[in-house]
Amino acid sequence: MYRTNTCGELRIDHVGHTVTLAGWVQRIRKMGGMTFIDLRDRYGITQLVIDGTSAKEINDTVASLGREYVIQAEGKVEERQSKNNKIPTGEIEIKLTKINILNKAQTPPFTIEDESDGGEELRAKYRYLDLRRNPLKKALMLRHKMAHETRVYLDSQNFMEIETPYLIKSTPEGARDFVVPSRMNPGEFYALPQSPQQYKQLLMVAGFDRYFQIVRCFRDEDLRADRQPEFTQIDCEMSFVERDDVLRTFEGLAKHLFKSVLGKDFKEPFLRMPYSEAMGSYGSDKPDIRFGMKINELTNDVKGHNFSVFDDAQYVGGIVVEGISAYTRKQIDELTEWVKRSQVGAKGLIYIRVNEDGLKSSIDKFFTQDDLKKIVGKVGAKSGDIIFIMSGVKSKTQVALGTLRIEMGNRLGLRDPKVFAPLWVCDFPLLEWDDETNRFYAMHHPFTAPKPENLDKFYSNKKEDLELVSANAYDFVLNGTEVGGGSIRIHDAAVQKRMFEVLGMTDEEAQYKFGFLMQAFKFGAPPHGGLAFGFDRFCALFGGQDTIRDYIAFPKNNTGRDMMADAPSKIDDIQMKELYLKSTAPEE
Ligand code: ASP
Repeated sequence: MYRTNTCGELRIDHVGHTVTLAGWVQRIRKMGGMTFIDLRDRYGITQLVIDGTSAKEINDTVASLGREYVIQAEGKVEERQSKNNKIPTGEIEIKLTKINILNKAQTPPFTIEDESDGGEELRAKYRYLDLRRNPLKKALMLRHKMAHETRVYLDSQNFMEIETPYLIKSTPEGARDFVVPSRMNPGEFYALPQSPQQYKQLLMVAGFDRYFQIVRCFRDEDLRADRQPEFTQIDCEMSFVERDDVLRTFEGLAKHLFKSVLGKDFKEPFLRMPYSEAMGSYGSDKPDIRFGMKINELTNDVKGHNFSVFDDAQYVGGIVVEGISAYTRKQIDELTEWVKRSQVGAKGLIYIRVNEDGLKSSIDKFFTQDDLKKIVGKVGAKSGDIIFIMSGVKSKTQVALGTLRIEMGNRLGLRDPKVFAPLWVCDFPLLEWDDETNRFYAMHHPFTAPKPENLDKFYSNKKEDLELVSANAYDFVLNGTEVGGGSIRIHDAAVQKRMFEVLGMTDEEAQYKFGFLMQAFKFGAPPHGGLAFGFDRFCALFGGQDTIRDYIAFPKNNTGRDMMADAPSKIDDIQMKELYLKSTAPEE
């Protein structure tokens, strides 16, 4: 037997027991005639000790140990002279009676401590060593718990976990597909699923009325910050449901996870906010409602002062930032520069500073104190606040104000990662027009149902009508991040056909890509709907972190590379030939 106990297990009650532990040497310290070894495994750290009374061969073996050696240690549990209350095993130590080196280790390229001295790239290359560190170990333990509790809850609600294929038909709509050449079908390719969307809908046609899967998905997108080409979803679908049934069920899942993983109780139903309100009040379809600072529309309050920036604007809006009236001119100039330079994409920033002794603004030339007072009254600003105002095209200006709002929330420490503010955003538009390609795209995906009350507009051929069609779609938003999204689906072959038509697909194209789904809809498809949660992101938020990378055992870097295995890589000519492939990549 390699071990009787783990390194996280022994307490004062075990004093006197003879035990055997196995693990990695974290640290060796010599003090006077004593040597202390911190022995680490997945469960914790236990201190081993030898002194002048220990046998010579034990002393010799200990003298030869290095960091990260794997050892087996037998000894007696003793009470420590000086206790360490920072670790659960801190009251005891093991007086060594036997030690056995199970494997040597090279000196690790960085320190395996909570705060490592290794840079990100180095740690990525030796990911298996990085994973020995506490922060990453804890992240993966949290992920395991989240997955386990997800299964516990969904099983209790009669959901069945069913696997769907990874080698599927390429039907890109949204992101680019990763494709896999088929050796047995020359010149043909599978795609890796961007999500199991069509399969889960087919499972509904098959009668499995409650499906879920914790499933890997693949999207070949340019990797913006903190995206991974492969990521995990909690993917779910239900039959014979309306929107509110879906929301209630998955609100239940979120609450179960909050309770079982974080010990947090959410008694009240989550807020449900229409998309139009999210955009109007927060300038975002994923509002962070941990703090106020809502956007106030001022379009009709500021016109007629010979100030063309307002007079010519489609929309004017402002946010009140509380308690920052001491911001210097320099700080405001710096913020204005940030607004112009960053992705906010605004042309400028107007301010009104509200102080005991009056109002000071960057529009004093056009607005009297009384005029300014009206604005202050409208937005409800108090002494000590600054109002920031932007103007321009409505949708863009709202988003710009929303981005500024988040920035100010960050600067003022209003976005505490330990505070959780979940909500549903509902009533998204069904379609999004793209000027560049001159066509509509599905805002969620092409299987999302239009709201029944908008069906007449859905069948209209006018762009203005189609733009107004609402979808039976919803997002689950947590702390300013979209963690989940889904919809009630189209289950009628004719409506689905119309949807493909609206998206500019010819009949043949729709048939080629989605024929099997439309065919299935002709054989008794039940009304159905569902959603998927981004599991990596959900875990990161629960862990209070911004980055999902720590919650994935072996992630890719931001150019999509596995730094440890050095993938992707070339394949040899024989493999290329078998797959009927020729590379046109430029020679290096
Ligand atoms: N398949 C969708 C997605 O990946 C989620 C859903 O509609 O259920 O975003």
